[in-house]
Formats: sequence, C-alpha cells, structure tokens
Amino acid sequence: MPTKLLIIGGVAGGATAAARARRLDERAEIILFERGEHISFASCGLPYYIGEVIKKRERLLVTTAEAFRGRYNIDIRIFSEVIAIDTKNKQVEVKNLKAGETYRESYDKIILSPGAEPVRPPFKGIELDNIFNLRNIPDSEHIKAHIDIKRPESAVVVGGGFIGLEMAENLVRRGVKTTIVEILDQVMAPLDYEMAAIVHAHLKKKGIICELGNGVESFSKKEDRIIVSTNKGKDIECDIVILAIGIRPENRLAREAGLEIGKHGGIKVDATMRTSDPDIYAVGDAVEVKDFVTGLPTMTALAGPANKQGRIAADNVLGRKSLFRGTLGSTVVKVLNLTVASTGASEKVLKHNNIPYLVSYTHSGSHASYYPGATMMAIKLVFSPSSGKILGAQIVGMKGVDKRIDVLATAIRGAMTVYDLEELELAYAPPYSSAKDPINIAGFVATNILKGDIENINWDELGDLNWDKNILIDLRNQDELDTAGVIEGTLHVPLNELRQKLPELDKGKRYIPFCAIGLRGYLGHRVLVQNGFQSKNLSGGYKTYLGAKEKIMKESPQTRLWLSE
Ligand SMILES: Cc1cc2nc3c(=O)[nH]c(=O)nc-3n(C[C@H](O)[C@H](O)[C@H](O)COP(=O)(O)OP(=O)(O)OC[C@H]3O[C@@H](n4cnc5c(N)ncnc54)[C@H](O)[C@@H]3O)c2cc1C
Repeated sequence: MPTKLLIIGGVAGGATAAARARRLDERAEIILFERGEHISFASCGLPYYIGEVIKKRERLLVTTAEAFRGRYNIDIRIFSEVIAIDTKNKQVEVKNLKAGETYRESYDKIILSPGAEPVRPPFKGIELDNIFNLRNIPDSEHIKAHIDIKRPESAVVVGGGFIGLEMAENLVRRGVKTTIVEILDQVMAPLDYEMAAIVHAHLKKKGIICELGNGVESFSKKEDRIIVSTNKGKDIECDIVILAIGIRPENRLAREAGLEIGKHGGIKVDATMRTSDPDIYAVGDAVEVKDFVTGLPTMTALAGPANKQGRIAADNVLGRKSLFRGTLGSTVVKVLNLTVASTGASEKVLKHNNIPYLVSYTHSGSHASYYPGATMMAIKLVFSPSSGKILGAQIVGMKGVDKRIDVLATAIRGAMTVYDLEELELAYAPPYSSAKDPINIAGFVATNILKGDIENINWDELGDLNWDKNILIDLRNQDELDTAGVIEGTLHVPLNELRQKLPELDKGKRYIPFCAIGLRGYLGHRVLVQNGFQSKNLSGGYKTYLGAKEKIMKESPQTRLWLSE
C-alpha cells in the first residue's frame, strides 16, 4: 500500500517536506493542509515588502497552490485547519475555514510544521487599532495599507530582535520616525552586549531611538494616536505600533494529541525529527532541537533549519535514514548600513551553562585597505581554552560580514579549531579581501591567546580591577586621541615611543596596553613582558571598549571614577 502522508502547515518546513516526499515516492498519497490562503511564501521578505524594497506582493509567493499541485501531484488544501489528531484511530480532524464544516482524514504518517505565533501579551490596550504583528502576507498587507493610506509620522517597534530591527529599517525607509522599545539592555539577543552596542550606536546615528531596558506596560489612545507606556514611566506617542516581542511555538495540536513537549515549549523530536509518537514527525519553528555546540535542547526560529528539517523528516517517513545533527542558530541581519551576524554559542550562553571558553576580538578591513571602499568589521570569536575548538562567532560590520560568518559556521560544523583558522587559504584579491583575511587574523589572535603570547583582559573585567595596582596605557597616536576620544586617567605613550619610556614605568604595577583595535596593544604587550613588566592587553582595544563603555560605567562605581566620559 502506498504511504498516506499528511503534512500540517504549508510554508517553510511543510512545503519542503511535501516536495521532498514526492521526489522520493511517486506513489505516496500526500495531502498538505494550510490554514491560510498561501503556501510556500517568503516570510523573510515581509519587512522588505512593507518597506517597498520588494515592490510586488506576488514576488513573496515562492510558489502557488496550483503550481505546486501541478508539479508535485500533491493534494493541497488551503483554508484548512487541522484541529485535532486522533493518534489512536490514526485520523485528523480538519476544519474547512471557508465552508465552516469539519471532516476526518486518515493517515499513515504525519509531518507537523505549524510554525510559531507572534507573542501578544495581555498588555492593557493591546486591542487598540494600529497595533500590528507580522507573521504572514495578510499581516504585511495590513501594515503596508496603513502606511500607504494613513501616512503615520512615527512608529514604535516593540522588540529589538531581527524582525524588530528589519521592521525599524523599513519603517524608516517609508519616512516614519521610529523608536525601538526593548526590555533587555541590548538589541539582537544572540549577540553579546559589547557587539550589540555597535548596533546601538549605528541605530542612534541613523535617527532610530532605542529605549533599552524598557518594557512595555500598556497602550492607550490620545485622539488618533497611541501612547506606549513603559515600566520606567516613559510615555511614547506614536501613530503605529509593531509588536515583534518574540514567538511561541504552535504546540497546541501536538500537546492535545499527547506528544511530548520540551522545556522551551517546543515539540520534542529526535535526530530523525520523529516525535514521541512513532508515526508523527515535526519540524521548523515548532520543535525543540539540539544545540550543535552545547548539546542542550534549544529553539531556533529560522528558515534554514526549518527547510532542512522538512527534507530530513520526509526522508525518514519514506524509509531513507537522514539525521538533523543540531543547530548553530546562524543568523544574519541587515540593520541599515550594518550587517550583523552570529553563529554558534555566545559568551553569555556558555557562561550561563558553565562551559569553559576564551574570547578574542579583532577589527579587520573588509578588503585590502589600499583598494577603495574598505570598511572595518568587528569579529568576536569564542573558543575552547583546552582544544581551541571554535564554539561561536559574532561579526558586525558593513561589508563582507556574511561571507566571514559563513566560513565560521562551516568551521564550527567541521569541528575546526582556531589553529585551523590561521591556516585557511581563502580567496584573495584586493577588492574582496586581504592576503591575511579577517578570518585568518581572528585565528592568529586567538592562537596567540592559547599559546600565551598574549594575555588579555576583557572589557567586562575592567570593573573588578584595583586601580592602585593597574594602569591603562594608551598606545595610539595623538591624532587618534583627538578624533576618537580618550579613556580618562590613562597613561598615553604612542607605541613607537614605548621602548624609550620603559625606564619611567613602574615594575610594581600591572600595565593594560591598548590601541584602537588591538594590534598595537599586542605589540606593546610583547615589549612590556619581554622587559620584565606585568601586562595584560585590553582585548579588542578602544573600539571594543567604546562599545561596552556604558555598561562598564553602570556596573562598576570604582571604574566610573577612573574611566570617566
Ligand atoms: C517577518 C519575518 C521575517 C523573517 N525573516 C527571516 C530571515 O531573514 N531569516 C530566517 O532564517 N528566518 C526568518 N524568519 C523565520 C522563518 O520564516 C521561519 O523560521 C520559518 O518560516 C519557519 O518555518 P515553519 O514551517 O516552521 O513555519 P511557518 O513557515 O511559519 O509555517 C507554518 C504554517 O503552518 C500553518 N498552520 C499552523 N497550524 C496549522 C494547523 N493546525 N492546520 C493547518 N495549518 C496550520 C500556519 O498558517 C503557517 O502558514 C522570518 C519570519 C518572519 C515572520
């Protein structure tokens, strides 16, 4: 008998699973249920449709139900919501949302890909007009129509995750003055604070106000406008609110069918994407999978994993063994002129899970500095202190960030170490890179740390230092101090004069050399230690310090005394 496969949810994971299943088995009976009107649409393009970067709505439709039916011979039922799974009788109950009637459909196997719904907390006033979520094409049409017709002057985006940031950018493109309200003290939660701080500075420069550490408490109306009130007593008046607070896995069907749910609320699956019921598989935003680096259960709401899992589930349903070995949560997001990307574990995740790590910061040019148009990128590498294995990476910059993060994501999947990064032979010509690519440089710096050629101190350790025993020593040139600013209370000795100044230094103190980005700090550190001084290089130099300055000030009254504005 041919397999009868039901697929619930028809976008990223569901549509991929359906197409793969048909390619593997021409005889299988495949029915795909989708609650909405569209299957296989580009959720990731929605913010850009609102911003009119993508001009035509049809461009968001990767395929239509008719085209998919024709190509894959799949019974596609749109406006059809599966409302229950009867695992005992191996049947589902389906509601035809147009006709309003329900019916039952039997199955041999199910692949669940119901996705995740935007969180809409019960804030007072949340039911007011002009407060929108963004998940699907109708949502994007409502928001776009509101902007086209009502011409809002100002917006509040609640939530500084990637959807919030993309929405902020696209609202600004439409001429809407935008404020981001975020309960955490940073945007882009997968990043560590000091890397996110580069994004904060960029948003500010581009006129987007960030209300960080501010949670929304309620919404109210003032004539035609909305007042967003925060827990810090701030009232922000605006014309439109976009809620991008986060998402919740759509686990109701699975829960009610008795499938096991994980601790994050996602459907529990094994590496074959099978749930606790042997005939039901689940994929995408609704499932909990293994974090590739930590091995712990995690949720990733990303299109790449959803698509891959759809393919893997279809393989296994149709008898071909295929495994999902874990997620790196690799993300990249465009924030106006910046590209912000991360892969693997962040420092805060490793710290939280007591997993040992070391970090390195490097600031490198996107391509050869002598070729016009090079811009700097900040790279944070997180790696194992014992083996040098790469555990995670974060990059923020204007150009070339996406290719570097992909190299690092590949390196993590290949269990590579920072020593391997030193050796990687990456394509080079002046318009694209440097003979020592930013990835090689990150590898050099990280291995210097492992080999003890450099001893670093990170920005977040500054607050704990006793400033009677430690001295910051700024190795930059005077012109750099004049343009970029200084850390008050530091000793200024340009690197080229350091050797002559050594007799004036105090061997009873520890020096913390730094420069703009770290290279001269490293050279200064080598000069100091080889001349019998105690030294620790300030990792990432003044650039990394600047990003984290606000937090250093806030967290350490002692540092505040020494490191004033
Ligand atoms: C605005 C936006 C921008 C994004 N940008 C990016 C990006 O740049 N990069 C990235 O990697 N990811 C991005 N994502 C996330 C990505 O779209 C999701 O991770 C991916 O779509 C998840 O796939 P899925 O199949 O699990 O769920 P979805 O693609 O959400 O599909 C689930 C479908 O199931 C249907 N459904 C649910 N329950 C039922 C039921 N009981 N019966 C019938 N149908 C049902 C829903 O109507 C929905 O259409 C973005 C998401 C949004 C909303």
